[in-house]
Amino acid sequence: MYIQKVLEDLNSKYYHQPEFIQAVAEVFGSISLLLERDNRYEKHRILERIVEPEKIIKFRVVWEKDDGEIEINQGIRVQFSSALGPYKGGLRFESGISLSALKFLGFEQAFKNALTGLMLGGAKGGSDFNPKGKSEREIMRFCQAFIKALAPYIGAHTDIPAGDIGVGEREIGYMFGEYKKIVNRFDGALTGKSPLFGGSFARREATGYGAVYFAKAMLESYGLGFEGKSCIVSGSGNVAIYTMEKLISLGAKVIACSDRSGVLIDKNGVDVGLIKQIKEVDRGSLAKYSKSKEAEFCADKKITGIACDYAFFCATQNEVDLDGAKTMIKNGVKAVIEGANMPLSNEAADLLIESGIPYAPSKAANAGGVAVSGLEMGQDAIFLRSSFEEVDAKLQKIMQNIFTVSKETAKEFGDAKNLKMGANIAGFRKVADAMIKQGL
Ligand code: NDP
Repeated sequence: MYIQKVLEDLNSKYYHQPEFIQAVAEVFGSISLLLERDNRYEKHRILERIVEPEKIIKFRVVWEKDDGEIEINQGIRVQFSSALGPYKGGLRFESGISLSALKFLGFEQAFKNALTGLMLGGAKGGSDFNPKGKSEREIMRFCQAFIKALAPYIGAHTDIPAGDIGVGEREIGYMFGEYKKIVNRFDGALTGKSPLFGGSFARREATGYGAVYFAKAMLESYGLGFEGKSCIVSGSGNVAIYTMEKLISLGAKVIACSDRSGVLIDKNGVDVGLIKQIKEVDRGSLAKYSKSKEAEFCADKKITGIACDYAFFCATQNEVDLDGAKTMIKNGVKAVIEGANMPLSNEAADLLIESGIPYAPSKAANAGGVAVSGLEMGQDAIFLRSSFEEVDAKLQKIMQNIFTVSKETAKEFGDAKNLKMGANIAGFRKVADAMIKQGL
């Protein structure tokens, strides 16, 4: 069979890129019915073409530490697909970042961006630079060196990077400041900027709020809501914080969140203001949270072991394996939502779907960030700014549309509750059809 053959070839060629293979298997595992019904995809060899990034740019980043020592990092930009628009996707700064991870993220991004309905291709990039423990000036110098090397390959109509793990408004600001000098132009070649200089209001909140808007639409289709429900949210970075903020505003109680050092449990409901102070201002560990006597920080606990109504995974890839999914089901979880990219293994996600638990796949549920980045590009292009309320209203509409498209597509292929299949087919079909229409 066509899918099997392409997957086998990919496995033997890229056996050393496990996350990338996992992401491709996840999408291909959902589209067999589409390929059976429509033989154009095989005729045009779309699967073989769609798994190869259009371009991968690798570069050296050299910068100077505060003590005068020279540091060398690697930079990568995977420009995966321009079928639907200019390359678009975040930058991740994290030690140990691999080409495998960036290829998986770029591949996912192409289909996620398709779901937003905006004119966006797919890309991802980053560096093995770890911002943790670096001084403010070191971070600035690294960002300047990174963007200097990447600048020839990006631009408002070519490739528009944004933030991701380790890259927030501060890092985007340093990169934008340098980029502007290099090209001698003030254009929107980066999104996630401060609203002071071309950034969109609500971009910071967009991925987390968007995940909750998607979850709301999904839960309503089951007759469920947020009022009084207990939630766990993994992570305590950009996506997690604004997921928590929106959940609390809708009447839910967030009883746990996490970071690399452990899990914070506050049965009375976490104080998101305090978490913002720790993570966005002090840039410290959740161990510093000391709101109440009941709150406890556990360095050796898994967040999947905490019983809750709804679980939001907003930290990183492969946080939840099959055992984690089994534990959550045993503890009575009523819905699982992916705010991060691919936080559940394929086996864990499939078990939830088979068990009839509402499950929101990342491609659909976390598309709010890139959607508002798309709106930021539009605002920059015409030098006009929309208000927070206008952007938030558009975000809600986009997330509702993504839910509807995913659900309708799942229904078209005979399994209306399987949003993973619906989102994968809907995203794939758009990118693949655009490739066919654009010729070889
Ligand atoms: P941040 O760097 O702001 O936050 C990441 C959070 O996850 C931090 O709290 C971090 O802990 C925690 N974390 C990271 N790796 C691990 C790990 N291996 N084990 C335990 N905890 C971990 O990143 P974002 O919030 O921006 O991104 C989170 C996820 O959401 C990623 O998968 C990203 O690709 C995805 N995403 C992000 C978007 C955005 O707009 N930012 C858009 C769409 C998807 P610590 O605080 O200790 O560093």
